[in-house]
Amino acid sequence: MKIYEKAPAKINLMLDVLHKRPDGFHEVEMVMTMIDLADRLEMSDQPRDTIMITSQAGYIPLDEKNLAFQAAKLVKDRYGVRKGVHIHLDKKIPVAAGLAGGSSDAAATLRGLNRLWGLNMPLEEMLSFGAELGSDVPFCITGGTALATGRGEVLTEIPDPPQCWVLVAKPPINVSTGEVYGKLRSEHIASHPSSKNMVAALQAGSFTEMCNNLGNVLEEVTLKLHPEVQQLKNAMLRLGADGALMSGSGPTVFGLVSKESKVARIYNGLRGFCKEVYAVRLLT
Ligand code: ATP
Repeated sequence: MKIYEKAPAKINLMLDVLHKRPDGFHEVEMVMTMIDLADRLEMSDQPRDTIMITSQAGYIPLDEKNLAFQAAKLVKDRYGVRKGVHIHLDKKIPVAAGLAGGSSDAAATLRGLNRLWGLNMPLEEMLSFGAELGSDVPFCITGGTALATGRGEVLTEIPDPPQCWVLVAKPPINVSTGEVYGKLRSEHIASHPSSKNMVAALQAGSFTEMCNNLGNVLEEVTLKLHPEVQQLKNAMLRLGADGALMSGSGPTVFGLVSKESKVARIYNGLRGFCKEVYAVRLLT
């Protein structure tokens, strides 16, 4: 049997870090939503009792470091499944970009194996497996739009943003999420975005208020380390995006655009800065 799962990228409309916890994780507040830029997973039975990962993308690990592998191993071990699986990852989401590509692949693997192996896994259990795999995985399981608290795994569903275009630009630099969090001094954050205001904007269905309340405290670290990310964000706004923000720990910058007539001009302008530019819709 062969099944397919879509693994969409996420963007953070706001991301605040409250403090570092005794367990080493940071206490965060994030508003996250999904965009229509997705990896496609093909999962099929394979004769040997092993997990095999393949991908057309030459630059991701295909062994136990791959989050899809880790998700498959977790399900296999916990449910005592004595079957093998071949997971092919057709990667479209830029890697190490702040778009949760690996987390979304892990979430899609949990959803897919639940179907492929007929496990009838309760959602609560899938979410708890997800939290073991990574802080962003539970959100990638539920999708939609959510306020995420705790270390990102405590989810409250909120209304989807008003539909718009999302211009996504990934500069050719590598940012380590660990390094960014490591350099953040939560007690020295100059200004905190407000999750309350962002949630209110979405509840009111206001595109303008959503753009006014975009904010990500990790910009303070990544933009200093990599001034080209700041330049990209400036370019996004100068070219006409209604709002722009770095997603996650970066380096990807996204711009929100309400008028379709502006999209081509912004897209073409951004291509002058970096090769990896996408114009997509929100996944609502
Ligand atoms: P986040 O926003 O959750 O921090 P990210 O978008 O910054 O994630 P990913 O694309 O998930 O980053 O990749 C982070 C690292 O994880 C990469 O360096 C990559 O080697 C590794 N990785 C493991 N599994 C995968 C996968 N399935 N797809 C992409 N990268 C993966």
